[in-house]
Amino acid sequence: MAVPQLSVDVAIAGAGVAGSVAALIAARAGRSVALIHARPRRRNRGETVPPEFRPLLEELGLWPEFLRSAPRECWSNHSCWGSAHPRERHYICHPYGCAWHLCLPAFEAELRAAATQQRVRLIDGHVTRAENRTEHAALHVETSDHAIRVDAAVVIDATGRSARVARGLGATRLNIDQTTSFAATCEPAGNAGVTDTLVEATDIGWWYSAPATDGLSVMLVTDTEVVDLGANGLGEQWVALLHRAPNTSARARAAADPAIAVAAAGPSRLHPVAGPNWLAVGDAAATYDPLSSSGILHGVSSAAAGARAADALLAQHFSAITDYTHHETELFDDHLRQRSARYRSEQRWPASAFWTRRGIPAAGRQ
Ligand SMILES: Cc1cc2nc3c(=O)[nH]c(=O)nc-3n(C[C@H](O)[C@H](O)[C@H](O)COP(=O)(O)OP(=O)(O)OC[C@H]3O[C@@H](n4cnc5c(N)ncnc54)[C@H](O)[C@@H]3O)c2cc1C
Repeated sequence: MAVPQLSVDVAIAGAGVAGSVAALIAARAGRSVALIHARPRRRNRGETVPPEFRPLLEELGLWPEFLRSAPRECWSNHSCWGSAHPRERHYICHPYGCAWHLCLPAFEAELRAAATQQRVRLIDGHVTRAENRTEHAALHVETSDHAIRVDAAVVIDATGRSARVARGLGATRLNIDQTTSFAATCEPAGNAGVTDTLVEATDIGWWYSAPATDGLSVMLVTDTEVVDLGANGLGEQWVALLHRAPNTSARARAAADPAIAVAAAGPSRLHPVAGPNWLAVGDAAATYDPLSSSGILHGVSSAAAGARAADALLAQHFSAITDYTHHETELFDDHLRQRSARYRSEQRWPASAFWTRRGIPAAGRQ
């Protein structure tokens, strides 16, 4: 039996924040769009976005969608970085106001709803294969009960770090390092609710904690080879390491053996980030160090830039692909420069592999 086929201007694989924003913007430009959505298994991680998120969403007309996802205001940020004493950064004087704790799955659902209102065709399914044909690209999709082929003049890969589509078309992912996150949900300690974000450096990596809808999200960011968190007793080891971060452990009540979600979290980029009839956006294009809290901001801004590049390409402006590639490369290089400066400002552990890998001079090499 022949596989049913759908033809659109733009086909987008992945309906996370980046894919949904790209779909909306391409549809608003008058393009026919298919958005393929494989439901992620991820839970709410307690992500934070910086104040600059607001003007970006306002410019894109997506601020109401964000507010509907019930984000919580975050007026201050504490960090024990370069010193054992917490330093406060208050957003009261920031030109764009506060940072935000968001529930990413809720925000993504709002974006998908807005996309379908713009006549984006949402397909629940997995892209299993991508191929380049002469005049277009094709995505092969498996839904729960059938297969479908989506032909598109431009394909956008928004499948996150896996970059499933772009890698299928020949791109490769370049990982800067093996940074990994180990996250658990804890009860906030004490009666007063936690409203701020805390970042605390320790000898083996750093800790992040922030309020999430289901408690306090607490995450250790380190290298897999620095801390051997093998499968056995992972939760117990994590709790033992938490005690090395006094300010974080003072505000988190962890279970004896909590469930730990392990995720690759290091910076990486796709090479190339675009081809003649495809481009990647969001984490598929580049992942940013979680220290920067800018993955979602980048997801939205690259999706907007990518959708505009796709629209320009459809209007025969072929330099759009090169321009998009330059833009993404510059952003990523800038991120790496800022990241190095930030890690080098923590000088307390010159014998630690985690810190020497990130720029602190090793002990004896000062
Ligand atoms: C531990 C951790 C903490 C973080 N904390 C923050 C933070 O505080 N602030 C911040 O700004 N950023 C943070 N980030 C980064 C942020 O979460 C990501 O940058 C952002 O979610 C990327 O969005 P995306 O849409 O590009 O990719 P994703 O969110 O990964 O979405 C990809 C989508 O594609 C779908 N998909 C995958 N494969 C297929 C397929 N074959 N077919 C169809 N669909 C597919 C997935 O199901 C998913 O829905 C953090 C990341 C990690 C790992």
